[in-house]
Amino acid sequence: MTSTLFDSHMHTPLCGHATGTPREYAKAAVDAGLTGVCFTDHMPMPAWYDAPWRMRLGQLERYVEEVRQVQADFAGELDVRLGLEADFHPGTERFVEGVLRAHDWDYVIGSVHYLGAWGFDNPEFVAEYEARDLTQLYGDYYALVEDAARTELFDAIGHLDLPKKFGHLDTDGHAALHALDVIAERGLSLDFNTAGWRKPVAEAYPAPDLTRAAAARGIPFVLGSDAHRPDEVGHRFADAVKQIHDVGGRTVTYLARVRHG
Ligand SMILES: [Zn+2]
Ligand SMILES: [Zn+2]
Repeated sequence: MTSTLFDSHMHTPLCGHATGTPREYAKAAVDAGLTGVCFTDHMPMPAWYDAPWRMRLGQLERYVEEVRQVQADFAGELDVRLGLEADFHPGTERFVEGVLRAHDWDYVIGSVHYLGAWGFDNPEFVAEYEARDLTQLYGDYYALVEDAARTELFDAIGHLDLPKKFGHLDTDGHAALHALDVIAERGLSLDFNTAGWRKPVAEAYPAPDLTRAAAARGIPFVLGSDAHRPDEVGHRFADAVKQIHDVGGRTVTYLARVRHG
């Protein structure tokens, strides 16, 4: 591994479904030889939206304080940054905008986790895929990704081809390529998310062909493990860098919402 690897997608127990303290994530990053990390826990959303899977608005200050503390404790050893994984869900944009204004974030990921009321990446609701036409599903999903890219609220799109998580692959691909055109045009990056290698699909997000298509459009990648436990920090980053470099892509990080690298 090179000496400039950053893990820019990591969670904390405040989201309710991650384990380990922020300090343990940072320690794991040091042990893995990373240069830096950016915490991007699931941000607060309006009370009606996906509440069990994220910090509440009242916990936001604590999140910021915890990350700032780790930042101070690891100064000189690890570059620790403060970010968020935001959700894009139509109707919640103004709420998200308010949270993004409340603090000086380094990096904000925009992720689509819902098609209507269906949390399509939740293993509990995987049966719903059988009731859907996959081409239609991916068309609807990528239309939301395009809307997310157009909000100008986010720096990167999270786990681009997420609906493949349980193995339901996109056999068409047109909607994905169109979304990449919009992402390129809007100047966003892609979260290169190695969690897919830990899921049934056994493939990172984005897939190799989409990595190639993104690189061809000049879209850079931000490495992220999507760690929900300290031992997932930096997961398979050597493989990630290889997949990106094999297609002529490049990696970047964000500091104060500005792209570097
Ligand atoms: Zn999560
Ligand atoms: Zn996510």
